[in-house]
Amino acid sequence: MKVFKFGGASVKDAESVKNVALVLDNQGFKNCLMVVSAMGKTTNALEMVVADYFAKKDYQQEIEEIKQFHIDIAKGLFPEEHPVYAEINLFFDDIDSFLRRNKSPNYNFVYDQVVSCGEMISSKIVSEFLNESQFGNVWLDARDYIKTDNTYREGVVNWKGTQENIKKLDASKNYVTQGFIASDEHNFTVTLGREGSDYTAAIFAYGFDASEMTIWKDVPGVMTGDPRIFDDVELLSSISYEEAIEMAYYGASVIHPKTLQPLKQKDIPFFVKSFLDPSMPGTKIGNADDNQYLESYILKKNQNYLMVDTRDFSFIAEDHLKEIFSLLLKYNIKVSLMQNSAISLELCLEDKFGHIAEFVQDLHANFQTQLIQNVSLFTVRNVNIEEVEKFYKDQKVLLEQLSKNTLQMVIQ
Ligand code: ADP
Ligand code: ASP
Ligand code: MG
Repeated sequence: MKVFKFGGASVKDAESVKNVALVLDNQGFKNCLMVVSAMGKTTNALEMVVADYFAKKDYQQEIEEIKQFHIDIAKGLFPEEHPVYAEINLFFDDIDSFLRRNKSPNYNFVYDQVVSCGEMISSKIVSEFLNESQFGNVWLDARDYIKTDNTYREGVVNWKGTQENIKKLDASKNYVTQGFIASDEHNFTVTLGREGSDYTAAIFAYGFDASEMTIWKDVPGVMTGDPRIFDDVELLSSISYEEAIEMAYYGASVIHPKTLQPLKQKDIPFFVKSFLDPSMPGTKIGNADDNQYLESYILKKNQNYLMVDTRDFSFIAEDHLKEIFSLLLKYNIKVSLMQNSAISLELCLEDKFGHIAEFVQDLHANFQTQLIQNVSLFTVRNVNIEEVEKFYKDQKVLLEQLSKNTLQMVIQ
């Protein structure tokens, strides 16, 4: 079995969906499970619906626009009289009636029930289009296979149950399913975190003991930096799982950071390739002798710099760290970088769920703090120590760290 993943950019309009068929034509479609994300920016749009629902604003018009976006794509792929239109309408009726009936005040729960629809609709459209383009496939509801706990918006995978479910599938068939979505023990939908479709592909690859996995992107592969941000970047043709996991962890958004671990566990060869030019080799990630360790650049935006000092000039000790980290856990704030000195702890924090103000407020009971929001974490992998000076030029550096072969700077 091999696993393919097509992200939002690869199915953003009718032409792109047709291009997916061209990729399959080039690659062959046999014993393949295809994971599909929501189309274009649908997830952002559905997030707005949920936000407006909770803010008691009018969200109906937004639903209507998202529906129209999908109907327009379908018009470019299917004749006028086609069952897919009724299916699209049904999905949106379901969102609407769910929100009307909903009594749960749990934002994250409601978010998952609504935002997951982007993947449901997208996978239906792609599956039906491929079926009519000689790429016969069975549509799967990923929620019947990937089981998680009930941490809505960031489900924690139950690997044993998930693997057992996936093993029941007939590996001689072709499947199309959704990225990003799973379900809990009561079969409520749980999402795996934004950009989680790469991770879904890895979960299926793990469950199938797949022979390989490929994620199809709008770039030639993993490069030495995001080509949208950095000039003169080059393609990494072959890197280790470790290098890829480090790059993804530091913020190279071309691969979701959770993707690597399941693949590494089973040594599944992993490719990142361009859906615009599928015959190009792309990046191979795995255990190879020719793995490259080139200087690479990663910029992670929307970070928070926080300096925490003891109020009484006492040392930052284990009990302080315990208190600070318990609060980070409570507010689901992630540490991107940290460093401590005698009386202060400096942190670079990622606050996906918008709790930084409450966190800092709680800290004030025992600590003094200095918070600078909207900073970036700049990381250089495999840095040439001899030439690090150039990275400091014209930068306001709040915090820096050089460890092994990685330079990291929090910059304002
Ligand atoms: P998907 O369509 O699967 O959601 P993404 O948009 O999440 O794909 O990922 C592809 C994008 O990742 C590229 O368009 C590029 O801007 C960005 N990117 C970030 N870091 C890198 C890197 N090191 N190499 C290639 N692309 C990168
Ligand atoms: N559609 C989801 C998102 O935009 C998951 C994904 O694309 O990977 O975050
Ligand atoms: Mg994406």
